[in-house]
Amino acid sequence: MAYETQPTASHFINGTYVDDIAGTSLPVIYPATGKVIATLHEATPALVDQALAAAAAAQIEWAKMTGRERGRILTDAARLIRKRNHDLSVLETYDTGKPYQETSVADASSAADALEYFGGLAASLTGEHIQLGEDWVYTVREPLGVCVGIGAWNYPTQIACWKAAPALACGNAMVFKPSETTPLSALKVAEILVEAGLPAGVFNVVQGTGPVGAQLIGDPRVAKVSLTGSVPTGRKVYAAAASNMKHVTMELGGKSPLVIFDDADLDNAVGGAILANFYSTGQVCSNGTRVFVQKGIKDAFLARLAERLKTATIGDPQDPNTIIGPMVSARQREIVEGYIAKGIEEGARLVAGGKRIDGDGFFIEPTIFADVTDNMTIAKEEIFGPVMAVLDFEDEAEAIARANATEFGLSAGVFTRDISRAHRVIGQIKAGSCFINSYNDAPVEAPFGGSKMSGVGRENSKTAINHYSQLKSVYVRMGDVEAPF
Ligand code: NAD
Repeated sequence: MAYETQPTASHFINGTYVDDIAGTSLPVIYPATGKVIATLHEATPALVDQALAAAAAAQIEWAKMTGRERGRILTDAARLIRKRNHDLSVLETYDTGKPYQETSVADASSAADALEYFGGLAASLTGEHIQLGEDWVYTVREPLGVCVGIGAWNYPTQIACWKAAPALACGNAMVFKPSETTPLSALKVAEILVEAGLPAGVFNVVQGTGPVGAQLIGDPRVAKVSLTGSVPTGRKVYAAAASNMKHVTMELGGKSPLVIFDDADLDNAVGGAILANFYSTGQVCSNGTRVFVQKGIKDAFLARLAERLKTATIGDPQDPNTIIGPMVSARQREIVEGYIAKGIEEGARLVAGGKRIDGDGFFIEPTIFADVTDNMTIAKEEIFGPVMAVLDFEDEAEAIARANATEFGLSAGVFTRDISRAHRVIGQIKAGSCFINSYNDAPVEAPFGGSKMSGVGRENSKTAINHYSQLKSVYVRMGDVEAPF
């Protein structure tokens, strides 16, 4: 890739770029052209060990710094990220294929938000004082130690910082493994953190596939694992973390419902469904891919949707006018094509899209199925691509029951003008992140995470602090002990 922002080596360990060509080579492919733009190497077991050793050593001194000092470094890094937003967004677009008009507003900036937010909180992290008559207890909020972050490929910069920012604010060190599909941007995050003053070894990046992640999780020096990935990987990681009782955060997949009542503002609801299915070419975990539309407005909804779909510009993701880019990989496109074929085979009505777009990149048309029923595969399984399933329903109780009839529980949305109904419906849907007359907003101030198979724990907000620290309680007796003899 002839681009100056490109990282200079595969890994970032102990404050510097390192490589070891003994590691299996890891080609980085630009999804818009199918061309290899960089070749990295997977971390060898020795490099993984080196990263963990660096993190373990650095964490001790990092935790001794005041929260204010740690926070200042994180907020300085946020400033650098904002200043370099353009370059980082171009890189993110090369890494993921997501359109620049998205990456320039939603990726590096979301990473900066997290660093700023947790940097700001770092000085105020405290325990408490509990008076018990003359005696008292105080609690000390302590870091967990070395944390491992493992990322998915859809929001590489954001995922790295949503994990690193609270971890580092609490005084932990981190070894982060990006997805092997999008390894570039986390390296830039590591570089910028060090430039902002982060001591060497506090944040390290190692590249690799599942086995590299497995080595990290299996290491007894690691106290916590935070994964963003699929449910099958989540199961494996959770089980491996149990071997020595590691703390876990699991940000996994979803098949979220978006319920549109007949009193909703139709244009706004159509906009919500577009946002919930086609942003990032549909590669968003919290997407509302089961769109339940109340019967009376179904035809009007589909007609409006079809009209707006014609205005979506598909093409070169580096072009600031492009709205829909390619899928992240040839493999991901094949998976999506398999689901589209299954939808047709099982009797769903294809109303738009459904075909791959010729060329070298991994493009596919935004696809809409109507007359989808709950038992169809496309209504049950996470597709992770631009495929919307439209289902219809009669009344509120039915919509709630069907919205909940899934193993997942990541997100849910409702569009209605009836404010009581909006809260009543959302109150009964089992999901971590919910939206009323909106979709997929994920500000750092709000907890983010899933229920049921969609995950364990929450990222973002003050709550994340509890997932990266633990409380030591200290009982202080003012008189003599009450010995039994
Ligand atoms: P994936 O599960 O294939 O991989 C995720 C990460 O886990 C990768 O870095 C991979 O190398 C690593 N990994 C794989 N096997 C491992 C093992 N045995 N031990 C340790 N690490 C291992 O997921 P993906 O295809 O990269 O991402 C798509 C999935 O991520 C979707 O299911 C999506 O819903 C989910 N996701 C969830 C959120 C969320 O916040 N809930 C956000 C983005 C993506």
